[in-house]
Amino acid sequence: MKVARRVELINPSPTLKISSIAKQLSREGKDVVDMSVGEPDFKTPQRIIEAAYRAMNEGKVFYTPTKGIPELLDAIAEKMRRENKVDATAENVIVTPGAKYAIFEAMMSLVDEGDEIILFDPSWVSYEACALMAGGKVIWVPHSEDFSDVPVEEFVSPKTKMIIVNTPSNPLGVVYGKEFLKKIRDIALDEDIFVMSDEIYEKIIFKGTHYSIASFEDMFDKTITINGFSKTYSMTGWRIGYAVAPKWIIEKMNVIQSHSVSHPTSFVQFAAIEALKRDDSFLREMVMEFKRRRDMIMERLDELGISYAPPNGAFYIFMNVGRDGDKFCEEFLKKEYVALIPGSAFGVSFKNWVRLSYAISREEISEFLRRFERFIS
Ligand code: PMP
Ligand code: GLU
Repeated sequence: MKVARRVELINPSPTLKISSIAKQLSREGKDVVDMSVGEPDFKTPQRIIEAAYRAMNEGKVFYTPTKGIPELLDAIAEKMRRENKVDATAENVIVTPGAKYAIFEAMMSLVDEGDEIILFDPSWVSYEACALMAGGKVIWVPHSEDFSDVPVEEFVSPKTKMIIVNTPSNPLGVVYGKEFLKKIRDIALDEDIFVMSDEIYEKIIFKGTHYSIASFEDMFDKTITINGFSKTYSMTGWRIGYAVAPKWIIEKMNVIQSHSVSHPTSFVQFAAIEALKRDDSFLREMVMEFKRRRDMIMERLDELGISYAPPNGAFYIFMNVGRDGDKFCEEFLKKEYVALIPGSAFGVSFKNWVRLSYAISREEISEFLRRFERFIS
């Protein structure tokens, strides 16, 4: 007996796997600095927690519409119109258990066997896996040296179905400029290609401006915007995200959702409405704190002469360690108990690079820097 081909094509998520190893080492009493997984280390704002309690107490604990409760769909559409200049209504929105599942559903809805999906090299780990599960073929396109451009135009073929853009980028931290995103728009429209625009780090930006591709002229019908609550409101474990797209795509995603997970947890959806109600000081403070941590690391990496992609957003630094990243990460974890993710997890041409997540305290960052210097000297 054999497993299905689609699961033979993929491996466990390296970000989550390495984080589990780090957690196991901690349980064994090792003093681990875990910079592997990307999740904010802040408490979810109290008002959101209370909204979840309230919903539970009010008996909102039953099945909801599979696409999500109407009030939340409306709130997301309104947010998209107001903040992202994307002309969405509730019929263009589906709420999913995490942004990751929105990506999976969108791929399953649009990608046919043999369709080509363009991924920027490097890209976050789950795009490739979702594309492969859907039967797609991944085309990796390298960045320019300064990470500001990706020559997608050279890799488009009649089979290209989708281009995935993630700004700010995981693992790079790069915030793509308007000109570059406009180029992607032109290619998508000229060649009749969908753009999946993953904007989950849209609020965590230190330099540059966030643009939503779906807001560019004529792009609404060609774009699936992915977003969620994990990063902006520090809600990774709540599992709630969403997609905004043309109605016919959302309807197909909803069919998949109705037969797989049904819908995201009822009271979490009510908490998400509260999250969108107002921006509070939480986000400003979180972003300021991320910037302080980032600056601390950048300063030391500069002194050590280590090169990295411009970390203008998200909470990662993608750096060149000058030797095999897989071995580097393995030895660094074994010897110094620091968990990082090798560049090989994110694409094909960054063998000597590694990603660190600075969603840990400044004390832990100081400890990381001490161990890092000791390890590389
Ligand atoms: N997109 C990117 C770029 C991410 O880094 C993550 C991290 N988990 C996700 C999507 C998925 O987020 P979630 O499923 O927690 O909403
Ligand atoms: N997106 C985060 C990361 O890249 C969370 C883990 C995951 O879902 O991959 O580490």
